[in-house]
Amino acid sequence: MDVRNCTECGTIFQYPGFGSVLCPVCRKKDEEEFTKVKAFLNENPGATLQVVCDATEVSTKKIIKWLKEERLVSKDASGLGLKCERCGASICYGRLCADCKRDIAMEYGLNRKKAPDDSGESKPLEFSIKDQKMRFLNRKK
Ligand SMILES: [Zn+2]
Ligand SMILES: [Zn+2]
Repeated sequence: MDVRNCTECGTIFQYPGFGSVLCPVCRKKDEEEFTKVKAFLNENPGATLQVVCDATEVSTKKIIKWLKEERLVSKDASGLGLKCERCGASICYGRLCADCKRDIAMEYGLNRKKAPDDSGESKPLEFSIKDQKMRFLNRKK
């Protein structure tokens, strides 16, 4: 068992090794808040972030975090203003829109095929994609 500091209140507690790093008290609160937000969104599809925040008294930061973690998935979260981190398109949950997810998966796939004879080191995904594009442009010239 890991001993950690709760990310909410800073209390030291025994971390079970999975899920958010929250002490039992904050975890319970987190779950209650999550249930509240989810229920509110089910009853009010398309509600804006501010409306959800006012009605549930849960911070917008938390709601965004749940959306990005794909923990909070609403049938219509278009009002929440979540944007794809790559192209800025409106999305309902997660960090990327479907197009960008597919693009990245494809580029990553291409990259992996070439990787073994390139170099032994494993680069972070973003850098690899940049390299790939540069090489592609250079070849075209
Ligand atoms: Zn706590
Ligand atoms: Zn996108």
